[in-house]
Amino acid sequence: MAERQGVLCVVQAEIAVCRRCVEAGSIPAANPIFQGDAGMRLMVVGQAPGPATHELGVPYSGATGKTLGRWLERAGFPPGALHERFYLTSLTKCFPGKATGGKGDRAPSAREIGWCRGHLDREIGLVRPAAVVSLGRLAANALAPATRGLPLAEIVGRVWPGERGGHAFVLVPLPHPSGVSHWLNDAANRGRVDLALAELGRLTQGLGGSD
Ligand code: SF4
Repeated sequence: MAERQGVLCVVQAEIAVCRRCVEAGSIPAANPIFQGDAGMRLMVVGQAPGPATHELGVPYSGATGKTLGRWLERAGFPPGALHERFYLTSLTKCFPGKATGGKGDRAPSAREIGWCRGHLDREIGLVRPAAVVSLGRLAANALAPATRGLPLAEIVGRVWPGERGGHAFVLVPLPHPSGVSHWLNDAANRGRVDLALAELGRLTQGLGGSD
């Protein structure tokens, strides 16, 4: 474990100085954000950091993190578990900026996700989580190929086999908690989130803090 943690620290230091999207003219400034240690049994993979996370430098420190924290409490986790028990990362590690028209944040492009792909592969391959929570359809598709082409309503509420970085895990997809999407306005979709949270609680019963 100590050796894996040492390699992860090197990888995290490399990610922290990555400027690939800036060099490609895709974002004005890089600020890669992630947090956690090798051996954590649980991981969250979101889409990309939001503006509050970008400002504070702490993953999931804005509205998304607050909602996600409440969801985890519904799954049976104690308050604060998001930042204590989960390795926190995303498909792209830098804030992509606001969406055109100002409604919400811009989703990372396929090119940006591709540039950041190796970072996520190495994080997953070294952390080796037993269960991964994905936020939104993009993250679910990136982690579990079987979810591709399906609407979010068919993805959330079940668990999926996931694999990245040579490591297999159980994927528990959730919708993006940012509140921008209207998906959660539908009672049937809120029921799917309840199912997913129950599944997450069941899966994580008995999991320790590290493998
Ligand atoms: S989003 Fe990923 S690939 Fe792009 S600059 Fe940030 S760390 Fe590098």
